[in-house]
Amino acid sequence: MKKLEQLYEGKAKKVFATDDPEAYIVDYKDDATAFNGLKKGTIADKGIINNRVSNHMMRMLEQHGIPTHLIEELSERETLVKKVTIVPLEVIVRNIAAGSLSKRLGLPEGTKMKRTVLEYCYKDDELGDPMVNDFHILAMELATEEELATISSYALKINELMTDYLKDLGIELIDFKIEFGRTSDGTIILADEISPDTCRFWDSKTGEKLDKDRFRRDLGGVEDAYHEVMKRMMGE
Ligand code: UDP
Repeated sequence: MKKLEQLYEGKAKKVFATDDPEAYIVDYKDDATAFNGLKKGTIADKGIINNRVSNHMMRMLEQHGIPTHLIEELSERETLVKKVTIVPLEVIVRNIAAGSLSKRLGLPEGTKMKRTVLEYCYKDDELGDPMVNDFHILAMELATEEELATISSYALKINELMTDYLKDLGIELIDFKIEFGRTSDGTIILADEISPDTCRFWDSKTGEKLDKDRFRRDLGGVEDAYHEVMKRMMGE
């Protein structure tokens, strides 16, 4: 597999073309941003950890019937993935109130939701990723009705699978963000990443935060938290 020209550089990853027209290489960086890019920093080895953690989670999800972009982990920071066009939605799943939901609805962080909450944000940095509902998505043709049905059912299934998987590791899944893509034949698959950058993980016993909130809120121990998540998943 040949790594060809860089196609895109995002906040946390670079994407490269390959000699396979249906595959890209994703390269994970240590750069961290928060608050729509306002806060910037680096988290040592984050790229390595997120590459490994995301692939680990995607392998687990694949085993349980969720199609993902994962083809093969190539190196510490690089993964070969299926080429997709990203559906421009951040799909957010919430079990426990935290972050923007707590702020918006006045629910103290840690409030258990009586039902799982599904939210969508339109991926547009200039607009600050505004929240949209099914009507906006269909009216703006961001996804078709069929695609949206697939996306929402995958998102809820992913939540169940991850919640159960993490429970055994002593981690409570508070909320997370996922993204989906369309392959060249129009199939919807899970893309982007699943990592401590994109999930809220709380230690089940102590409630300690094991995710990017440590960076966002200057809580310290950021690297240790990312390492701890990887260690619980992979034993190292
Ligand atoms: N999230 C993310 N990228 C974003 C916004 C949110 O990965 O651009 C994740 C975040 O880590 C959390 C969940 O989505 O696990 C819900 O985030 P929230 O809406 O509370 O926003 P935040 O408090 O992160 O601004």
